[in-house]
Amino acid sequence: MRIKIETLGCKVNGVESESIAELFRKRGHEIVKDNADVVVINTCCVTGEAEAKSRQAIRKALKAGAEVAVMGCYGQLAPDTLKEIGVSVIVGTSERKSIVNKVEEIYNQHKSDSQALDMSNIYEDLPHVPSKTRAFMKIQDGCNGKCTYCIIPTVRGKSRSRSLKSIIQECQTLSDYKEIVITGINLGQYGTDLGLSLTDAIRTVLNNTSARVRLSSVEPDEVTEELINLIKDEPRICKHLHIPVQSCSDAVLKVMHRKYTVNDFKQMVNRLHDNIPTMMIGIDIILGFPSETDEMFEDTLNCLRELPISHFHVFGYSPRKGTLAAEMEQVSPIVKKARVDKILTLAAEKKSAYHDTLISSEVEVLTERTRKHFEGIYTEGHSSEYVKVYIKGEVPLNEIITVKLTEVFKDGIIGVVDN
Ligand code: SF4
Repeated sequence: MRIKIETLGCKVNGVESESIAELFRKRGHEIVKDNADVVVINTCCVTGEAEAKSRQAIRKALKAGAEVAVMGCYGQLAPDTLKEIGVSVIVGTSERKSIVNKVEEIYNQHKSDSQALDMSNIYEDLPHVPSKTRAFMKIQDGCNGKCTYCIIPTVRGKSRSRSLKSIIQECQTLSDYKEIVITGINLGQYGTDLGLSLTDAIRTVLNNTSARVRLSSVEPDEVTEELINLIKDEPRICKHLHIPVQSCSDAVLKVMHRKYTVNDFKQMVNRLHDNIPTMMIGIDIILGFPSETDEMFEDTLNCLRELPISHFHVFGYSPRKGTLAAEMEQVSPIVKKARVDKILTLAAEKKSAYHDTLISSEVEVLTERTRKHFEGIYTEGHSSEYVKVYIKGEVPLNEIITVKLTEVFKDGIIGVVDN
């Protein structure tokens, strides 16, 4: 079969799609970009908008006449809707490996498949698939949280962790990689089911590879003292952490059912910065959440202005059907947009100020690709801090090289190779 795989949503979905593509390849099927017999759509439902995009992609593929198989969060959440639309195979967030058999079966029989979806409590190992320069290693799935805006625990189930043995096995296949990104749905919950912690998994990866290690995202209340010390002391851990704080108003955090206060978050960020001053600290922030007043928004704005945060993912709240927050009184779209715009302005200022602090410093860049920009050819890559670095000319790819940062350029900084 000619199989096309479309992915929506988060990095975890990206990793899982690559694994599924590899399973299809192993069975002798071809992964294609166009003219597919079957389109596998790995869906997302983290917001109402993500859900709509998933449905849109499914309808488009059906309209093109392909057999459609759906996996991922929206598949788990709304199998009945998907069956109504005409999707032949639906696999949710567990038993994903079964998609290959199911697709083969349906393709051969040309008949509709409909089944209730089970939710597993056991971590499902999916095979690793090579990507260009960075290997994404998923070590955790699901979440034990109860955030009022989030559908993830409903569609992915309780937190479950990959065994250290399985992590070691994957490490053995990654010797060509200079960087491994450790991912999960809620990474900080790694090990709660195995009597382990995230730092155990990180140490295991460090001990079994020679690559540098990046963490995808860790919840504010899960950035422990032990994790901070490990990031500080271990040169092979990237000096970059993404923290989904979502709001810096205690009142809003309470309505969101988040498990930390603004003060906890401030202390943690300052501790990170004091220990690792060059560290890139990124956040996710939701604006216009139900009950957020102008005053609460100003609290968030002022708090973020003060803190050493250099990268912002900004979201206007979008209600997700099936969550508590979707039933609450909503903030008007105009107010929401004004708040998003204000935070985006602050985000640009903070990013630029952070870049300024790095000028003249030396950083380690993973070289990823060569591209032309107005004046000439540049080799692009990311530093340990996840700053985009442009190196003039062509240098070997997939290497970690030391450069001196000289001036801001486009969305990053020019790096000059140290001779
Ligand atoms: S911590 Fe909250 S927002 Fe994150 S996945 Fe769990 S329930 Fe969703």
